[in-house]
Amino acid sequence: MDFHLSEEQRLWRKAVHDFVSKEIKPLAHEINEQEKIPQSVIKKMIPMGLLGMSVPEKYGGSELDAISSAIAIEEIAWGDGGTALTFEAHNELGCASVALFGSEDQKSTFLPPVTSGDGKLTALALTEPQAGSDLRNIQTKARKEGKYWVIQGSKSWITNAGEAAFIVTLVKTEPEKGSQGMSMIIVPIDTPGLTIAPPEKKMGAGGTHSHEVRYDKVKVPLEFLLGEEGQGLQQTLRILDGGRISVGALSVGIAQAALEEGVSYAKERETFGKKISEHQAIQWLVADAATEIHAARLMVYYAAWLKDQHKPYTQAGAVAKLFATEMAERAAYSAIQIHGAYGYSREYPVEAMYKAARLMTIGEGTSEIQRLVIARKIFKEGPLRME
Ligand SMILES: Cc1cc2nc3c(=O)[nH]c(=O)nc-3n(C[C@H](O)[C@H](O)[C@H](O)COP(=O)(O)OP(=O)(O)OC[C@H]3O[C@@H](n4cnc5c(N)ncnc54)[C@H](O)[C@@H]3O)c2cc1C
Repeated sequence: MDFHLSEEQRLWRKAVHDFVSKEIKPLAHEINEQEKIPQSVIKKMIPMGLLGMSVPEKYGGSELDAISSAIAIEEIAWGDGGTALTFEAHNELGCASVALFGSEDQKSTFLPPVTSGDGKLTALALTEPQAGSDLRNIQTKARKEGKYWVIQGSKSWITNAGEAAFIVTLVKTEPEKGSQGMSMIIVPIDTPGLTIAPPEKKMGAGGTHSHEVRYDKVKVPLEFLLGEEGQGLQQTLRILDGGRISVGALSVGIAQAALEEGVSYAKERETFGKKISEHQAIQWLVADAATEIHAARLMVYYAAWLKDQHKPYTQAGAVAKLFATEMAERAAYSAIQIHGAYGYSREYPVEAMYKAARLMTIGEGTSEIQRLVIARKIFKEGPLRME
């Protein structure tokens, strides 16, 4: 493995960083206070290729390698964590499900409008009120009726549902077969019987919205099933493997932003006759955060590199997600500590960073589930080693 980014990846990092510095970071406070990403920002992301990162060019995407996608998510999160989650869910959950498992017809029908269209997004609906980590326990069902699937049930916490063109929905098509009877179905947002509740009132990450979604005899053509019937759980686990890399990257971006805020505040604030950056206690907070961010970034990029090499990356992705998400909370905690009372004020950006970071150990597989995945892999294949 080469320990450097390619020239292309470095240029891409710079392009996204410049874009985020200009178009997203200055709006982060407004986005969090108003809980809305301006549509104009989303429109500007389309020509950058940020709405179709995992999608082949022929369907309007930018077909990036996994490291470049991670870089983009990291940089957007450096600008604003909630905004990054919106685009992470769109790219790595909604679009990726269709790009990976869709037929030619499904890809050419559903992907171009959401990668290069008018800024409509996508969503992936797995979680239900009674089942998040334990997806085998979902109750939403789809039964065949003539040329249609008829879907009945409800989903919760579905990111982007209110802004989506379609929701890829995990259902039980043959409930008697348990986890072998699950499938993914594309549900266009305007299908009668589909109801999207108002966004959940969350702790933070105002740039992203999650909704309860109800399916009341929702009828979609049989051809909207993704891949093969009965493969839904395996498809979901594959998607979540990729999602772990990007939630890890997102966490690195939030942590990097928090560290930068802490450093710049420490250079200005004085106590006991000197800058607080001259107190060793503050220096240690900064040094620990920088060390952990570097470690997390390497872990995320390594998992992405394995993905790009078409090598197994489940353990590497879970390790990266576990460490990066827990690290981001520590880094944001330290940034608040460095700011003292101002860190607790909504007028300073570290408060929103902390609240966004707090989500990352929960979404797309909690820390506990990452530990289960890692431990299972260790007992089966041994601990992770560098290739
Ligand atoms: C802002 C936000 C956005 C989200 N977006 C989406 C989305 O777009 N699509 C979607 O489908 N879902 C989404 N989710 C849901 C998210 O994926 C779930 O919340 C997550 O998977 C955890 O499920 P749960 O909340 O049901 O917790 P539970 O599964 O009920 O877990 C509760 C606690 O028990 C622990 N636990 C559970 N099982 C075990 C075990 N076997 N061993 C040890 N500990 C265990 C968990 O780690 C957790 O600490 C989102 C959630 C949030 C908060």
